Order: sequence, then structure tokens, then C-alpha cells
Amino acid sequence: MERMKVDCPICQQPKCMDALTRTEKIPYFGEIMESVLLCNSCGYRHTDVICLEQKDPVRYSLKVKKDRLSARVVKSQSATVSIPELGLKVEPGPKSLGYVSNIEGVLERFQGAVKTAMNLIDDEKSRKNGSLIMDNLKSVRCGEKSVEIIIEDPFGQSFIAHPNVEKRELMPEEIKELKTGFATFEQENIE
Ligand SMILES: [Zn+2]
Repeated sequence: MERMKVDCPICQQPKCMDALTRTEKIPYFGEIMESVLLCNSCGYRHTDVICLEQKDPVRYSLKVKKDRLSARVVKSQSATVSIPELGLKVEPGPKSLGYVSNIEGVLERFQGAVKTAMNLIDDEKSRKNGSLIMDNLKSVRCGEKSVEIIIEDPFGQSFIAHPNVEKRELMPEEIKELKTGFATFEQENIE
């Protein structure tokens, strides 16, 4: 683990931000670097994970069952994570984070996101729908319900480690549909 003190890009305070980086070799995937930025002045926090090897656009899907909750997951900032059966999808954006976790951790993050969304809405119908999704996520976590989790990453920086995982390359038309989390002008510059 490497630790550095850097200036905070958010509150501009000099040398108040801890930048931690850690590399790890993930079997069948490659070497990854996890980073955590944490400002001691304003509390800004950002985490990301990148694979240090060049990868092809990829789509992983896994039918989630009780004995698969501990399957390792690497989710980069550029990945879209979805559970179509529950109508859930997290797309990359300026605030999206990369992380190393497992299937249970992914479900937990979805629970957190739905909870946050429910606190922001006050119409009855959306609330009901929200608590239905929460119940479903709970059932998946205790193994009473099985759903498919899909991770799509145009940069191939993400990974689900399980013998039953379905892995294939993303089609060009699928890649076009995916958000990357980068601003449009940056994409134009690349071309
Ligand atoms: Zn700060």
C-alpha cells in the first residue's frame, strides 16, 4: 500500500488529501490497481480500480444464487452494472466509483442506491415500487430468489470470477448504447 499527501481538487486545501494506492494480481484477469482519495479537510472521497493490462470490451453475466454471493467482482468506473429482472441499472458517470468486491457487495450497493433514491422521492407509487425492489434484493441476498447480474465494460476493465459466469465480447452496437462516464468533448478529442 502506497500513501501520498496531495492537494485536494475540491476544497483546494494543500496536502490535505490522502491518496492510497494498492496493486493486486487477480487470477484469470490480471493486475489491478485500487486507489482511494480521501480529503481530511472537506471529506471528499473517491475510489477507483483499473486493470493495468489492455483488455477487450466485455460483458459478464452470472445467475446469482446463495452459494455464488462470494464470487469476486472487479467493477471499474467505466462499467455498467444491471439486474434486468429488477429493473436496476447503474451507469458510469462523473460520480461513479470503481471497486473490488463480491456479488453480495454489489447487491448491498444496489440496496444503498435504492434507499437513497427512496429518500428523495415522495410520491406513493414510486415509494411502493422502491420497497418492492428492496424486498427483492433482500430475498436475493438470502438465497430465496435468483436474478441475473450483468456487468458491461467497453474498456474490459471489469470482471466477475465464477466458474458459471458467462463471458463474451461486447458487440459494436452494444458499445454504442453504453455510457462510459467521460464527457462528450473528451470522446470527440479521441477521434
Ligand atoms: Zn478537500
